[in-house]
Order: sequence, then C-alpha cells, then structure tokens
Amino acid sequence: MNTDVAKNLQEVLGNLPHGVSLVAISKFHPVEYLEAAYAAGQRIFGESHEQELRVKVPALPKDVVWHFIGHLQTNKVKYIAPYISMIEAVDSLKLLKEIDKQAARCNRTIDVLLELHIAEEATKYGYTLDACRELLRGGEWRELNHVRICGLMMMASNTDDENQVAQEMNVAADFFDEVKRDYFADADYFCQRSWGMSQDYQIALKCRSTMVRVGTFIFGPRVY
Ligand SMILES: *Cc1c(COP(=O)(O)O)cnc(C)c1O
Repeated sequence: MNTDVAKNLQEVLGNLPHGVSLVAISKFHPVEYLEAAYAAGQRIFGESHEQELRVKVPALPKDVVWHFIGHLQTNKVKYIAPYISMIEAVDSLKLLKEIDKQAARCNRTIDVLLELHIAEEATKYGYTLDACRELLRGGEWRELNHVRICGLMMMASNTDDENQVAQEMNVAADFFDEVKRDYFADADYFCQRSWGMSQDYQIALKCRSTMVRVGTFIFGPRVY
C-alpha cells in the first residue's frame, strides 16, 4: 500500500468542526485501504457500486456504516437493502418507492438524502430545485414508512473557481432551510447537508455542510 491512509484521514478529520461527519469514499480502492482507515478509527464508508459492496461488506467488521453515494439503479436496491445505512443520491420518486419496498421486506428503515442538481455541468442526475419542490409538494413520499428523508446531497461544479463552488453550495444550503421549514420543521432527523469532496470540502465547511464525502485525498487516485 503506497498511500498513508491513516495520516491522510487524520488530516481531514483535523479540519472538520464538531458535528460534521466524514464519509470516506472508498470506491475502486482495495479492501486493505478500507482496513487501514478502519484501523485508524473510520467507520463510515461510501461506495458507488453494488458489486464492490458485495465483496467489501463481508470483508470489513460489522460496525462499519455503509453509504451508497452514486447513481443507484432501481433493480440494484434489493441487493443493498439488507445492510445499507444511507442512500445518498435519491433522484426519483420511483427509486424512493423501491427503497421503501425493499426496506420493508427487510423490516428496516433506510435513511436517504435527496440529490440536488445545481452545478452547471450537464450531469444526468439530481433534482432541480423546482423538481424537488414538486416531489415534496406531491406528498406521496409521506406514505413511505420505511424510508426516512434525512436531508440533501449535491456535487458542486468541477471547477477551480472557488466562488462558483461556494455559490452553488450556498444555494443548496438555502434550499435546505426552505425544505426544512416547509416539510420537516418537526423532524430532528432532517439535518444533513452532504456536500464537499476532496477538492472542495474546505469550501463546503464554510457553506454549512454537515457531511463531507472525501475519497482521493485519503486513499489516493482511483485506478479504474
Ligand atoms: C467519488 C465521489 C466522491 C469522492 O470524490 P473525491 O474527489 O475522490 O474526494 C464524493 N461524492 C460522490 C458522489 C462521488 O461519486
């Protein structure tokens, strides 16, 4: 292993204020890298492929908290429903319903975040603010008793322009306040603002992130 995972992890943790959690994004990294982070105290790991989880979950201790961070196809939900703690990037009612259905079959409740699409990049995924408002106004989500909407997630544009990154994250933070006020005022669990990756987590901390998702800075470059 040619990356000092423990040292990098401590560096990130040292930058996080109280109340901000770190999701160590371990996708495409081998089990030994996760074990090194686990030995250094890390418990929350983020992965984006069901096939990789299939290998890594049995290999790591049982107290690891797994987040699914990437785009999730509805037909994959059933495989991760027995153990996944949080699905971070819900971008359709269809997916939300499938998570509810599979969680119910496992007698569980699965925490989810709604993914926002605010960045300028033409990615395919995530709700525009208006689409997210429409989902919430529709109210169907209220009948889904096995999913718990815990907050919002977004990826800022991949740019060196820090002002633009901060502007996008602040739009997300303001939108969080709106959604909290209109739909989750009494729900303590609606409290997560998942933004900030290796390149921009320090900016995210200034933009009220509660959950940063850092991969490359901890584990080194991914080999795809
Ligand atoms: C891969 C990924 C990350 C981590 O990105 P790094 O640049 O390696 O820190 C964070 N969030 C999501 C959604 C990702 O897919």
